[in-house]
Amino acid sequence: MNITGIIFDLKRFAVHDGPGIRTTVFFKGCPLNCWWCHNPESRKLKPERIAAGSHRHCANLAIPDDPAMVGKTVSADEIIAEIEKDLAFYDESGGGVTFSGGEPLLQPDFLTDLLRRCREREIHSAVDTSGHAPWAHFEQIYPYTDLFLFDLKLIDDRLHRRYTNVGNRLIHDNLRRLHELGAAIFIRIPLIPGISDTEENLAGIRTFLDGLPNIRQVNLLPYNPIGESKYQRFHKKNRLGRLSTQPPSRLEAIRDHFSTLPCAVKIGG
Ligand code: SF4
Repeated sequence: MNITGIIFDLKRFAVHDGPGIRTTVFFKGCPLNCWWCHNPESRKLKPERIAAGSHRHCANLAIPDDPAMVGKTVSADEIIAEIEKDLAFYDESGGGVTFSGGEPLLQPDFLTDLLRRCREREIHSAVDTSGHAPWAHFEQIYPYTDLFLFDLKLIDDRLHRRYTNVGNRLIHDNLRRLHELGAAIFIRIPLIPGISDTEENLAGIRTFLDGLPNIRQVNLLPYNPIGESKYQRFHKKNRLGRLSTQPPSRLEAIRDHFSTLPCAVKIGG
């Protein structure tokens, strides 16, 4: 069966979405609503019509692309055909494919099928997740996933609710359970000025990670104002206002905060 799903972009030669050179497939639909989301067009779990000229599209896919739409329904066959074009780059760089979003676990059967096909082809796979999904979905994809890129945003549940629209208990439980299973996990921490890069939040995340000694890597993601212009283009309200990326000295200080963890700590993806 050639299962279908909804994506809003496919990016080749990505270098910030896991190890090596990767193809990143952006699933459409996300249960969160983060104030800092770089992809506000990704949230609805369906293709949507937007103002002409302001879209992201799937130009790499060999099927017609409507310039007034964000997102489209594609088959697993089409995605795999795109992924296979860059096999040589994956092999040379230690790369592979990353399923991102949006939240890829919102389409678990489509995701599982793609992961299974990658495994059959010995293509390294990563799943970039907010962690907010039923545990059953993680259990379903776990046997076919080589690496989880798992976001930790805010350790305080009340703040997590305020800035993402959901609490963090499910996310933390899922992370602990994946860790117990022995999954390969990179933690990704988006550093949002005054929100997630506070001393209190970073100390809380650090304490949480002390209980997860087999995490492979922590990636500290500096704030990137690239998303701000998108809110204008998509006529969506930017609740964050104008913020600046952290200066290098601040990023080094944040990295020092995590330096005693028994894993690599990197600035950037
Ligand atoms: S989890 Fe990611 S895709 Fe979803 S709203 Fe937050 S930043 Fe956007």
